[in-house]
Amino acid sequence: VWTNCLKIIKDNVPAVSYQTWFEPIVPVRLDSNVLTIQVPSPFFYEYLEERYIDILRKTLRKELGPDAKLEYSIVMDNNKVSNSKPFTVRYPAQNKTELKNKPVPFPIQSEGGSIKNPFIIPGLKKLEIDPQLNPDYTFANFVEGDCNKLSRSAGYAVAQNPGKTAFNPLFIYGSSGLGKTHLAQSIGIEVKERFPDKLVLYVNANKFQNQYVAAVIKNEVNDFLHFYQMIDVLIIDDVQEFAGKEKTQDTFFHIFNHLHQSGKQLILTSDKAPVELQGLEQRLLTRFKWGLSADLQQPDFETRVAILKRKIYNDGIVIPDEVIEYLASSITSNIRELEGALISLLAQATLIKREITMDLAAQVVERFVKDHAKELSVDYITKSVCDYFNIPTDLLSSKTRKREIVQARQIAMYFCKNLTKSSLSTIGSTIGGKDHATVLHAYRTISNLIETDKSFKLQMDEIEKRIKY
Ligand code: ADP
Ligand code: MG
Repeated sequence: VWTNCLKIIKDNVPAVSYQTWFEPIVPVRLDSNVLTIQVPSPFFYEYLEERYIDILRKTLRKELGPDAKLEYSIVMDNNKVSNSKPFTVRYPAQNKTELKNKPVPFPIQSEGGSIKNPFIIPGLKKLEIDPQLNPDYTFANFVEGDCNKLSRSAGYAVAQNPGKTAFNPLFIYGSSGLGKTHLAQSIGIEVKERFPDKLVLYVNANKFQNQYVAAVIKNEVNDFLHFYQMIDVLIIDDVQEFAGKEKTQDTFFHIFNHLHQSGKQLILTSDKAPVELQGLEQRLLTRFKWGLSADLQQPDFETRVAILKRKIYNDGIVIPDEVIEYLASSITSNIRELEGALISLLAQATLIKREITMDLAAQVVERFVKDHAKELSVDYITKSVCDYFNIPTDLLSSKTRKREIVQARQIAMYFCKNLTKSSLSTIGSTIGGKDHATVLHAYRTISNLIETDKSFKLQMDEIEKRIKY
């Protein structure tokens, strides 16, 4: 069908236009009278709708009859480097006059001086985007406990009234594996259930950054902005990853302002509270504190048991309570680990066709704890310390004498000595080719600081927690 359409179009538009606007189109689906075509960007979509809707409609009717419909699938992220799924936007092609009547937000001044609106928002109700939500991450599956009471209820309130509560942005923070992503996604799922027309989008901060960079390269920053500015509920996961990325922060700042001013809901997650976030612009941090910051803490025993039971219940498996309690008491600090142990227990049991007994559980837990201890290598610690200070790992092993770097290096050495069995000279040679005396010196310096400087000690505790989770 599409090939036939193309033939007609080719005869009716200038060759250059044909090459530019029609050749890149990929037909993706034909459902009786609905043809879906994929276009490379929102701008592309808008341009086609503006200039070529008549010819598209005519040819399509010729091919598919009077009820022919055209749908677009718009690629939002062409970044071939990442294997991530592109965002797709679908909506029925609309009557042109209808399009014209819609207000166009933020016309952008293009280089040529003319006003260009790269992204018209036609009939918002019909517009649909893939919200990038995992259907398992629901409120129903999110076990409530003292550790997450405030965050959960704030999240739930936000989901009932997105953009209309005082919790805007809702800022959820906590260490790795305590349920930030799950909770943030639950809000998205709940909103979609209650308000199917609302545009919800979940995106990880890194992915946002990649998309932004790709948009810069392709000269599509305006499209990028417009896309994000039309979202009703925007969930950005792990905003600490914006640290040090100034351009991305700037762009996010504008999107944040636009959405906030329009009463749209923002949900952010981070591994640290806004006050502790480093490498982020002050004006962003200020805004992060406008709404509600709520934390997720380590779950207590009861909650850990409840989480395991919920998981088992969902999977339809029976495990003796004794075993569940044993798991819950052995793995305490991280829910992801807890689930991991449960999964390997189940895997073991099926593999060797054995009942799930305390013995088996003990074996799995032992291995789990050991595996985790193995991870605490010099490299791993170095990386954690660098992550904490937001410095590239290779800088730590460089010859620089910059104070922050030197101190970060000493801190890494200190933890390596304390938390691994590596010898001083192994530690030294792994971290920047230093000798054992340097490591010992580092160790003493840091130990002294811990004793004399209270805030330094707190910082060290924080880093240690991050290394161990
Ligand atoms: P984070 O984003 O904070 O690192 P995740 O949201 O990825 O953590 O959670 C890790 C795992 O723990 C996920 O599989 C999630 O479903 C589970 N989990 C976390 N909190 C809860 C909870 N309260 N109830 C049930 N499962 C949870
Ligand atoms: Mg997460």
